[in-house]
Amino acid sequence: MAGYILDSEIKFLPGVGPKRAQLLEKELGIKCFRDLLYTFPFRYVDRSKFYAIKEIDSASAYIQLRGTIKSISLAGAGKATRLIAILGDGTGYIELVFFKGIKWIQDKLQVGQEYVVFGKPSVFNDRYNFVHPEIEPVTAATASGRSAITGVYSSSEKLQSGGISNKTFTQLQQKLQGLVAGRITETLPDYLRQEKRLIPLDKALHDIHFPPDMYSLEQARRRLKYEELFYLQLSLVKQKFIKMRDAKGVMLPRIGEAFNYTYSHLPFPLTGAQKRVLKEIRADVTSGRQMNRLLQGDVGSGKTLVAIFSALQAIDNGYQACIMAPTEVLATQHYNGIFRYIDPEKVKVALLTGSTRTKERREIYEGLANGTINLVFGTHALIEDKVQFHNLGLAVIDEQHRFGVDQRSRLWSKSEITPHILVMTATPIPRTLAMTLYGDLDVSVIDELPPGRKPIITTHVGENQRRKVYEFMRKEIDAGRQVFVVYPLIKESEKMDYENLEQGYMNITEYFKQPDYITAVVHGRQTPENKAFDMNLFISGKADILVSTSVIEVRVDVPNASVMVIESAERFGLAQLHQLRGRVGRGAEKSYCILMTGYKLSNESRQRIDMMCSTNDGFELAEADLKMRGPGDFEGTRQSGLAIDLHIANLAKDSPMMEEARGDAMDILSEDPLLEQPKNKLLADNLKSINKQVIDYSKIS
Ligand code: ADP
Ligand code: MG
Repeated sequence: MAGYILDSEIKFLPGVGPKRAQLLEKELGIKCFRDLLYTFPFRYVDRSKFYAIKEIDSASAYIQLRGTIKSISLAGAGKATRLIAILGDGTGYIELVFFKGIKWIQDKLQVGQEYVVFGKPSVFNDRYNFVHPEIEPVTAATASGRSAITGVYSSSEKLQSGGISNKTFTQLQQKLQGLVAGRITETLPDYLRQEKRLIPLDKALHDIHFPPDMYSLEQARRRLKYEELFYLQLSLVKQKFIKMRDAKGVMLPRIGEAFNYTYSHLPFPLTGAQKRVLKEIRADVTSGRQMNRLLQGDVGSGKTLVAIFSALQAIDNGYQACIMAPTEVLATQHYNGIFRYIDPEKVKVALLTGSTRTKERREIYEGLANGTINLVFGTHALIEDKVQFHNLGLAVIDEQHRFGVDQRSRLWSKSEITPHILVMTATPIPRTLAMTLYGDLDVSVIDELPPGRKPIITTHVGENQRRKVYEFMRKEIDAGRQVFVVYPLIKESEKMDYENLEQGYMNITEYFKQPDYITAVVHGRQTPENKAFDMNLFISGKADILVSTSVIEVRVDVPNASVMVIESAERFGLAQLHQLRGRVGRGAEKSYCILMTGYKLSNESRQRIDMMCSTNDGFELAEADLKMRGPGDFEGTRQSGLAIDLHIANLAKDSPMMEEARGDAMDILSEDPLLEQPKNKLLADNLKSINKQVIDYSKIS
């Protein structure tokens, strides 16, 4: 909109000017009035209440206490000198710690006097303390607390030294409010706003900065969050609708011999979740539209069978199917496993990987092209140019995040018809994030493990206890079980990692001497032959221990393995730790996961390790991970190329509202798919400008 006040350059705001404008842009990315207006406080200080010391827990944000100083002392020497004051309030005691300005604080504080303390508690030596809190003597003014709610904006040293303190920043916001008052254009149509009981945009943009009370702040936050999530979903759903209209899918209505044979030869009943997902898939492949489904299920939840049944459905209807795995080991294991389930007379199966010999490879190419091969397992080799299918009806892609978007889309060009796509992942993605990352994929979840699984017992052990871990391993091995020992492998320190692995391997073989114990070793620097040899030693049960580096090599099914030892566990992410743990606990035996770490752990690593020890539920871990790290870091987010740029909504915390917004977007679009009705003009206009920033989801499949 030309001349819209929010587009004015920030330097024209009174009190800013060219120099500060530069600083604001560099430090906070603020270029125009809109940017400033949409830079919200990251927290609010509510000084209307006093906390009791015993109420403090790790979740405490900035709070205020009221208590008496019991003692003041100095600790440490030289640069490490610190002043420690003990504050008591009748419910407990807490340390106030000062590293700087000690002299000044010493003069200010007096034992026996009552103070108001304001700050954020932190943990040190398993106890809470306050480092550099604000502290003031109790006076008539402080005694009852202050009632005002004030916003705190994020800052930086450069901003501070450039003269833009929180106070200055707040003043700029105040000036901006004066200028934009009455000139902000509403972005949600009246009918929607009324239905959702949302306050107008201009009021929300005022109250979010200067809330008159908590209720107004809540209303402002709700309005702004909803708007972000709504437009995000509107954009995603619209693309999904367009895609649904475009992509016709082959019909797979028949349940035939292949399917029924396998179904009746299963050694166990399907779980409820497996059945439900199969029904969802069946509905897709009989709808006439192309299926694009993401199947999430924790490790060991039985996704492979779902993949196989989906493939058999295609085969029963005269189409081919393929199942793609991220590694050769996995593809081979899937391939070998299939003969438990199918009648090889009726279903012709092949395996195509990087090491398939030339002659056999040629035969497979031919069989795929003329349709004599019904089902093919494989790796990336399946998407090479030479591969052409006769009529690929359904493709399953295992472990989605290892396949790039364009690799997936190459599957489309392999056949005249558009295949149904089932993407499977064992990295659980919280529902909210899945809806955003894969907004145009339908999501199915297997949320149930096959019966009889015993939960895996996870413990955290210091590296100095390695001896004890070995003893435990020996007990398990002597009882006939097998053990994984995994080392981290990180690109930056690859050399060191290999040294650690070698050292670890030597330690283990020294303790677990041949021929009583056999230890296999697998890592990325071996020749494929050596790797396969050692891998097979372990899979076949000839080796007792498998020492390995990276995650992927150990994604194998060895039901007899009961112990997973993870070295330097602090260097793995939650998702990876959980994946690794999922390698054990597949048999009937009790299983263990031992997380070894160094002595010194960052807060975040400790949290991860604690989470792992406290739950076996991959989805719970994924939610926690998302909360701890934010969506930007979440596994899969970066690969997808999606820039999630939300100012106020939080994908982890606002999932109910996200679902609500998605429902609303669906309602509006099913009535008016192209947003052509006059009442939706506002939506169409806004979406246009937003879509410029959002990536093209229609390319993901
Ligand atoms: P995922 O691929 O989801 O990690 P898998 O498909 O490899 O899990 O299954 C893990 C193990 O559970 C396999 O050994 C499989 O045979 C077994 N399994 C699968 N479904 C069932 C079921 N309904 N009941 C019992 N065991 C099952
Ligand atoms: Mg699997």
